[in-house]
Amino acid sequence: MEQTRRDFIKGASIVAAGAAALAGMTSLSGCSTQELADTGTTEAKHTCDVVIAGAGIGGLAAAVSAAEQGANVILVEASQAVGGTSRFAAGAFGPRFGAAWEEAYAKAPMSDPELGKLVCDNWAPYLEWIGGLGLATEELAPGSPYVWMGGKRPAEEGSKSYTDEYLQQFGEIFTAKGGTTLLGTRAVDLIVDEAGTVTGLVAEDAEGPFTIAAKAVILATGGWQCDKEMCTHYIGRHADLGQAQCVPYLDGAGIKMAVKAGAQLSRSFGSFYGHPQPWPTTYLNGIDTPEGYEALTNIDDAHVLYYGTTEHSIQGMGVYVNVSGKRFVNEGLGSSLVNQEVMQQPMARAYLILDEGVRNLIRETPFCNAAVIGGDRIDAMIERGMTVVQADSLDELGAKIVAETADGVSFNARNMVETVNAYNEAAAAGTADQLEVPHLGTVPAMALTTAPFYAIPVVGGIMATFGGLKINTDTQVMGTNAQPIAGLYAVPGAAGGIMNGDYWCVMSGYSVLGRLSGEVACAYAQSTEA
Ligand SMILES: Cc1cc2nc3c(=O)[nH]c(=O)nc-3n(C[C@H](O)[C@H](O)[C@H](O)COP(=O)(O)OP(=O)(O)OC[C@H]3O[C@@H](n4cnc5c(N)ncnc54)[C@H](O)[C@@H]3O)c2cc1C
Repeated sequence: MEQTRRDFIKGASIVAAGAAALAGMTSLSGCSTQELADTGTTEAKHTCDVVIAGAGIGGLAAAVSAAEQGANVILVEASQAVGGTSRFAAGAFGPRFGAAWEEAYAKAPMSDPELGKLVCDNWAPYLEWIGGLGLATEELAPGSPYVWMGGKRPAEEGSKSYTDEYLQQFGEIFTAKGGTTLLGTRAVDLIVDEAGTVTGLVAEDAEGPFTIAAKAVILATGGWQCDKEMCTHYIGRHADLGQAQCVPYLDGAGIKMAVKAGAQLSRSFGSFYGHPQPWPTTYLNGIDTPEGYEALTNIDDAHVLYYGTTEHSIQGMGVYVNVSGKRFVNEGLGSSLVNQEVMQQPMARAYLILDEGVRNLIRETPFCNAAVIGGDRIDAMIERGMTVVQADSLDELGAKIVAETADGVSFNARNMVETVNAYNEAAAAGTADQLEVPHLGTVPAMALTTAPFYAIPVVGGIMATFGGLKINTDTQVMGTNAQPIAGLYAVPGAAGGIMNGDYWCVMSGYSVLGRLSGEVACAYAQSTEA
């Protein structure tokens, strides 16, 4: 049965009816947490119905939907700009495997079926909603559930993303609906009363900590890929050496504060979405630090460096080896799954080996993302300062990899040459699908025999983590006692478990659940009014 927004609100009201009995305990004066005492004040600096931490694509949708329902809403954002990581995104969003949940589930069977179905069922209404708000989208293809934010540009103009314009417009709509946005402000803790109901946030800006009293709190603080310890703990022993491909604030703050308040974690902590990132990453010029990110004047620079001209644009051509010189993955799996395997290699490192034949094919095959990137992406990488090792033979390539990318990692050049030769033989014989690590997929194995040869060193990259807070279908955060925590809601990436393994609904899922959390939290807040 299709589950609609109306069902959501109904569900929220039922929960709220029980919680309403606690309404008298939701004022700040009822709080006795150490965190509140730490702010040095018993007076809330701000009071509102709903406070939302994090102004990414999910937080913005939550903010606008809650404000639209009549709530007095405060949105706190660590950065000096709204939009979060989606500011860098290519801009295609939608349920990747189609909006019919049964079909999508067959292709993403490790997903959370209830949350996945919610996303699919509410995708068309979401598009209708943003259309009504005046936010432009364009179908990827006639009848496709995938849409572009804004438009596309021809290849000559290079890679251009329109997501930032969309997100800034979203922020303006929130303000026009009476919402308050506090930029440069971090949520640092939850305020919880004696009954365990969440009654606000402790936040911090340049002037220090302060409190925001609220009837409901929505955590939309995103994922945790900037916390290197969490990466190693949950993803892999060398995942701290991978690249966080996001705004530099995704340290799992929302997840940590909710766990402190008794929240339960979802599954899916081991998988994530991202693409291999050319290494070393000096060309990023610090955009992965708060100082560098806040100083960015052209957001497309980040889009291009994390996505547009990187390995992803090569689309599965060539051969991947690890530092042992061995193949470890079916290159035909697709960049996001290949990337997860790269992250599991020693030093989270791999080398994409190409030859001139493959490079010519790349030149002839435009890469379609927000823009169609034509021409020579390898030249574009070199121009941007990414390392591309070049040589006239495979032996020389191996020696140069060692000489030019030596950093304490011992690359096994001899194994690499043997690996590529074996791959070439199999490609020529049409038996690459029988290799120890089979090469399968839509791009056939191509022998690498034409000089010059190339090697692009990469590390695993993380754009979105999949594990987070466990939420129910009302986006309420679940406690370790298997009951929802009253007053607390979460949106992915702070919430998790929807996707597992491969991605299928990144910005679309975050948007749909963001909108729903705004509605549900607003209904709850209104129901707690005396
Ligand atoms: C280059 C690139 C291209 C991509 N292309 C696509 C695409 O085409 N389609 C697609 O669907 N997805 C795409 N993605 C993925 C997607 O845009 C992001 O991965 C996703 O938005 C991450 O969402 P998030 O919720 O984890 O974090 P965010 O979107 O970053 O949202 C979290 C927000 O919370 C803020 N925050 C964090 N901690 C705090 C705190 N304590 N207090 C206050 N604020 C806080 C952050 O600053 C941020 O604004 C792309 C990603 C990248 C990097």
